[in-house]
Parts: sequence; structure tokens; C-alpha cells
Amino acid sequence: MSTARAVPAVTQSGQPVLILKEGTSQTKGREAQRNNIMAGKIIGEVVKTALGPRGMDKMLVDTFGDVTITNDGATIVDEMDVQHPAAKMMVEVAKTTDKEVGDGTTSVVVLASSLLDKAEALIDKNVHPTIIVDGYRKAAEKALEFYDKIAIKVDPLDKVMLGKIALTSVASKLVSEKYLADLTVDAVLQVAQKSGDQYKVDIDDIKVEKKPGESLMQTKLIQGIVLDKEVVHSSMPKRVENAKIALLDCALEIEKTEFDAKINIESPDQMKAFLDEEEQMLKDMVGKVVKSGANVLVCQKGIDDVAQHYLAKAGVLAVRRAKQSDMEKLAKAVGGRVVSNVDSLTKDDLGYAKLVEERKIEEDKWTFIEGCKNPRSVTLLVRGGTQRVVDEADRSLHDSICVVRDVVQKPKVVAGGGAPEAQVASELREWAEKLSGREQLAALDFAEALESIPLILAENAGLDPIDILVDLRSRHQKGELWSGVDAFSGKVQDMTKLNVYEPLSVKEQIVKSASEVATMILRIDDVIAASKMKEPMPPKGPGEEAGKFGED
Ligand code: ADP
Ligand code: MG
Repeated sequence: MSTARAVPAVTQSGQPVLILKEGTSQTKGREAQRNNIMAGKIIGEVVKTALGPRGMDKMLVDTFGDVTITNDGATIVDEMDVQHPAAKMMVEVAKTTDKEVGDGTTSVVVLASSLLDKAEALIDKNVHPTIIVDGYRKAAEKALEFYDKIAIKVDPLDKVMLGKIALTSVASKLVSEKYLADLTVDAVLQVAQKSGDQYKVDIDDIKVEKKPGESLMQTKLIQGIVLDKEVVHSSMPKRVENAKIALLDCALEIEKTEFDAKINIESPDQMKAFLDEEEQMLKDMVGKVVKSGANVLVCQKGIDDVAQHYLAKAGVLAVRRAKQSDMEKLAKAVGGRVVSNVDSLTKDDLGYAKLVEERKIEEDKWTFIEGCKNPRSVTLLVRGGTQRVVDEADRSLHDSICVVRDVVQKPKVVAGGGAPEAQVASELREWAEKLSGREQLAALDFAEALESIPLILAENAGLDPIDILVDLRSRHQKGELWSGVDAFSGKVQDMTKLNVYEPLSVKEQIVKSASEVATMILRIDDVIAASKMKEPMPPKGPGEEAGKFGED
């Protein structure tokens, strides 16, 4: 922002009228637009080399010097610590896409950036941004229709198709094992709930626990829950088969009075009586747990030493201070109910698991609750050589879980490799002929922007993008619907033959979000920025310039 000035307005007598605070800067018109477009495009430039299975990875260093290696679009832009407001909008759009559909985060930034790039050229040709925005909007709507038209209907429980979807999504990641993709299919199908004639999946029902060590192939799907907690008392059993599990969210402790109560104790006998009474109360609590028939207890709060002792004596395996979120998942997994008062605990509240066992995972002891009957909540226990590997595996699994969910919930897919983009672009061109002059230009540009996906896929695979695009266009003209860029053989191929499939919902989200953010940025013709406050030290260290990595 170069033109730092308060808006100059002068009264008749020549007195300046100050509307904005001193130090406020304002950029207007073309310059504001150009700055914003530039900022948006830069974000696109950064992530585009990460697109697709042959995309490169990014090493990101935060202000503490911590290193993340990834090629996940959402993670890249999130870690970049961007300052420019328009660039921030691009970051947000990647995050929204991640939240809504879980994949396509690189694509959405690439598409938005390409839309901005084309718009810039039109603005240079004196096309008013409003016209461009209108053209883009109409084109986006049409594009959605065309995507839907070409989409293939599938069976939401078809494991083979879901496997292909999962594999396509992990194929473009650092961690891309088919084994992991298949695990996510099993996990999602396990927690899918039928509602009407559709299926609903809450991905929160899939708990991902990660621990460096062993190898990726040791990653497991557990039909139940893994708690990163150990069995609380050393003389409790460490393994219980046919577990009947009580879930409590109250403490097995004597409540301390809220106010300071004074108890006068005058003799050792009194002291003993007092302690005996406390002990008796705890013993009673444990008695109630045991009476319900439970042989395993998971408690969200604390368990008093004395209570632990009695539980151990009764042969109950107990875990304390479980997270609330884990309690909810556990209830779904074992089919039990979380009870808030030991007095009301009955047999009907108990859950069931074939096996509850404490196991040593590297240096920690974790409690595995597995073999649940038809659990509605499961755990993926991620293993891998180093912390960085498990972190990136976690990101791959996340994308994979999301795309499988997307298809289970909305069973329509398209092939990948830029095939649908090329097809939709070609249909958009035909449609755009009906539009009026300048709006048509914008719509044609939208089509071209869509083609940036296959173009960049080709570029990242080290291919000649122009050759590929020409080939791609001519084949789609001939009606080869699923011709796309095979990043591995380097040729234009039928992507359905390569089993590269993606959910329709991801494509829809990409088009919607990218056009939204691009038009939003284009409509801005005035940037009024208050002078920076002297910031208190943010927790992550001093504010960094966009793209500049800080030292700690
Ligand atoms: P995003 O974050 O947008 O999902 P990715 O890096 O995952 O970005 O790349 C996704 C793109 O890669 C999609 O357009 C998808 O069709 C494409 N793709 C995936 N697998 C292949 C493949 N084997 N050949 C060509 N393109 C592929
Ligand atoms: Mg992806």
C-alpha cells in the first residue's frame, strides 16, 4: 500500500476534514485491484507445484524452527503465516474446502489464482470487474451443471469403487500406500449410518491416534478405541476378555467441601473413625461399580487411591482422566452409556468389548478397547518411522477418510487427472457462444482457468503442458469424456482405465469456492487499512512477513 494518506477533504474555508484516523492508508481503484490480484496469484504460484501425484513437496519452517514437510495444499497455506488480506482470503478458501470436503485444497487455490490471472488481463483490456464477476458467476453455475451431467452414479457401499477414490486421494501425497487407503474405506463404512435412503458419516467417529515407531504397514484399524492412558493401579488386571465396561464422568473421590470446614479431632480414635468413614464411602462407590457387573471402568475424572485399591481387589481394570471426546467415542464404540453418578449405574449402562488390554507403545502404555460389536466409532492407530512420517500419514488419511465419506454420502464420482475439467471447459466454451460480448470473454476465461488443472498436472509431471493441452482438447472434442493427464506414463489417457476417481462433491466445492473467492477479490476497489497497532507479542513469536521464515 503505497499511497499512505488520510482522505483529504477540505471545507470551504480550507480546513481539512479528517475522516480516517491518522496513519490509515488507502489504496484505490486499479492499484488496489492489482495489489489484491497479485497477492492472490502469489499464493497460487506457491502451491501449484504441489498439485497432483507428481507434485513437489514443501518444507515449511515456523517461527520456532519446527519443520513440516508436506504437499497438502491446506497445510501449506496454513503454515505460511500470510499477511496480505487478499492472500488471507485464499488461505481461508483452502481451509473451507478442507473442512467441507477434505480434499481439493490445492486445486481450489490453483483455480482461484488462475481466475484472478485471467481477470487481470481482462481488466487491462478495460473490461469492468463487475462484468467479469457476472461472467464468472454464470460460468461457475453452468460448470456445476456440466460436472453433474458427466458424473457417474455409484453404489455408496461399493468397496471397490471407494477403494479407488481413497487411493486417488492418497496417490498425490507423500504417504500413498494402498494399504492405508483401504483401511480408511473400512473405517468409514464401519461408522456410516443409514438415514432414509442415504448414508451419513461423521468423521469424528474415526479416531486417529499416531505414534512414531515400527512402520507405516503396522498402521491398524481398531474396532474400538485406543486411549492414551494406562491402567491406573499396578495390581489391576492388564487384560480383560469379554469386558463389560462402565463409563463414568464423575470422580471416584470424596468431594472436597467448597468452603473451609473445620473438623475438630481430639483423639486418635476420632481420627481413625473419620478416616474409616472416608474409606467406607469410597468402598461403597467401588461396590456400586462392581455390583453393576462391570469388569472394566473408564472414568473421565480422578479415581482416589483407596478406590483404586478396592477396584484392584475386585479385579476391575480401571483407567482414569479419559478425555471427554474419547468418552463420547467410547460410548459409541462399546454401545454403553456415560453415567454421571455411580449410584445410578446399572447393568444396562455397560458397554461390551471382546478385549480390553494395556499395551506398551514405544515408551507409553496405552489401553486398547477392541473387538466391539458393530462399533459406531473406531480408531486408526498410525505408525511410521518418524514423527514427520506419521504426521504426513495422518494428513493422507484425513484426505482419504474425507473423500470416502464424500462418496458414501453423495454417491457420484468423476474420473481425475484433469479429465472432467477439460470436458467441462469444452462444454463451457460451447455454451458461452450464447453470451453477450464481454461477459462471453469472462466465461471463456473461466473455461480456460479450469484447464489450468490438467495443465499444471502435466507441468508437474515434467511434460510439455501445451502439447498435452492441445491433445486433450482435441480428444474431448471427439467425445472422449474421460481423457486426462496420466502423470505417470506422461500421456493423455482414459482416466477410468487407470482407476483414478474423485468425488463429485470435491469438484463442486472447488468450483464454488474458487469462483467465490476470485469474484470477492475482484469486487474490491478500495483498501482502507488502519495503521498497525503495536501488537502484544503473539504466542507464535513476532509477526512475520508473508513467506519469510523466521528464526527463533
Ligand atoms: P488437491 O489438494 O487439490 O487434492 P492433489 O495434490 O491431491 O491436490 O492433486 C489432485 C489432482 O491430482 C486431481 O486433479 C487428481 O485428479 C489428480 N490425480 C490424482 N491421481 C492422478 C494420476 N494418477 N494421474 C493424474 N492425475 C492424478
Ligand atoms: Mg488431493
